Amino acid sequence: MDSRENGSKASRKIWDMNLEKAKDILKKVSDVPMLEALILASFVFDEPKEKILIHGLPKDEKLIRRFFELVHKRSKGYPLQYILKKVEFMGYEFYIEEGVFIPRNVTEELVEIAIDLVKNLRLKLVADIGTGSGAIAISVAKMTGVKVLATDVSEKAVKAARINISKMKVQDLVIVEKGEFLEPFLDRLDEIDLIVSNPPYVKKSDEVSKEVLYEPEEAIFSGRTGLEFYEEFFKRYDLSNKLVLMEMGESEEEGIRKLAGERGKLLFLRDFSGSKRFFLFLGKGMLNLLEKVIQLLSSRIDLG
Ligand code: SAM
Ligand code: GLN
Repeated sequence: MDSRENGSKASRKIWDMNLEKAKDILKKVSDVPMLEALILASFVFDEPKEKILIHGLPKDEKLIRRFFELVHKRSKGYPLQYILKKVEFMGYEFYIEEGVFIPRNVTEELVEIAIDLVKNLRLKLVADIGTGSGAIAISVAKMTGVKVLATDVSEKAVKAARINISKMKVQDLVIVEKGEFLEPFLDRLDEIDLIVSNPPYVKKSDEVSKEVLYEPEEAIFSGRTGLEFYEEFFKRYDLSNKLVLMEMGESEEEGIRKLAGERGKLLFLRDFSGSKRFFLFLGKGMLNLLEKVIQLLSSRIDLG
């Protein structure tokens, strides 16, 4: 018993040293360096974080080296989600890999709004432009049972979205095709009630964090003004019988107002932090729904 006790103390001491070292290295890029060190250790040693915290790490030199390789990689800003190849979104675990946009928490709010619209307005067919990992399309389909047509220009994104469609068992509800905007589904354009998107909307000149530089450029940036995606979208399609719900940057309000012009009604919606983060556009043929929409989303609508 004595020797076991000594053994475990010794291994904990070694672990403490390694964990402290990893934490110090990760401080550069993370506000929660100890948590990230534990997450990486859990990934490398294939043990739960809690167990690692209590019992320390197995003394496996090879795996300890691997652990520090990943700690150093992460310390250069490489996103944790790309190392783990997964990300949580709306309570589901999505597969993700380098080359595919990492879904953000704020986009969960776009999904909640879309779900409210689908359920309360009894919408039948949704489209998701720039689906990435399929985060929005799959969550909306899973939580409402509505059908979703998804597109992305990136081959890698389409592949990841297909993996997630199988993983989440929504093959009957979500279809994803490679292509820009709604081009792969032109033959079904008339049937679509709601178009959602978290498009690229960052200005080329804007500074972004170290992590974002590891993500695909075409997922983040949209030209000099950040508005190019919206400009092309509004130009391309007849939206008179559509609802359009998209994520946006706060500085883009004026630009989006100009694009929508007289074509329908435009509402800006706030996220939980109070920023105007989404817009909802109702084409002229959808104005009969305006009163209901305003009631439904009153807590977010910016009337000022
Ligand atoms: N919807 C996902 C999410 O929220 O996690 C991904 C959003 S990411 C900000 C934007 C995505 O749009 C990228 O996957 C990018 O490849 C895709 N994309 C950019 N321009 C596009 C276009 N014109 N048509 C379709 N997809 C586009
Ligand atoms: N808000 C994202 C960021 O982290 C960008 C998302 C987007 O362009 N759709 O920069």
